[in-house]
Amino acid sequence: MNHSTAGVLSDLEQVLIDPVQIQLRVTQLAHQIHRDFEGRNLSVVALMDGSLFFVADLLRHMDIPIQLHTLTVSSYHGGTTSSGRLQLAQQLPFALKTPHVLLIDDILDTGLTLASVRDRLIEEFQPEKLRTVVLLNKEARRKADIHADYVGFEIEDQFVVGYGMDYQGHYRNLPCIGILNPDNLK
Ligand code: 5GP
Ligand code: MG
Ligand code: MG
Repeated sequence: MNHSTAGVLSDLEQVLIDPVQIQLRVTQLAHQIHRDFEGRNLSVVALMDGSLFFVADLLRHMDIPIQLHTLTVSSYHGGTTSSGRLQLAQQLPFALKTPHVLLIDDILDTGLTLASVRDRLIEEFQPEKLRTVVLLNKEARRKADIHADYVGFEIEDQFVVGYGMDYQGHYRNLPCIGILNPDNLK
């Protein structure tokens, strides 16, 4: 992969959401979720690696007892669109200990990822209340029957990187969310 010598930020064609907008919205979401779960113990399941930065920022604004679990899933296999095939391990690497669950991902795109994990959690743990939160929603590409309970930003059908989201493992550390120059998409 060719990166510009001017730093990874200059590999972007456009900044869609800047760091200040991200932090403002993440704080709002955290307060909203906090209100909805106040007085409860909460199990959080965060899908890795894309939601790493989002979940770290979001949970720090929620002053309630939380047990954080992570689950590594991937349906991309290197490209810029989901292959649709999601492989979930036979055995989940954790057990949920509370009836209230928050499932977190970076982007809701076709919805196949979030729907698969949601269904698996319901099947295995029968939570009393399960809510889903995503930072970005690409409504246009939905295939699975799912909508997120909390959404940070609605975006068009375009491939984005930054703030945890990658292209072939790169760009997660960008502080903003943006679109790559076509030259960097190969
Ligand atoms: P879905 O199963 O909803 O199609 O795909 C969701 C997953 O695909 C997300 O967890 C995310 O990892 C990845 N994804 C979807 N759209 C984008 C995008 O625009 N950029 C990046 N970096 N990942 C994406
Ligand atoms: Mg993901
Ligand atoms: Mg990815």
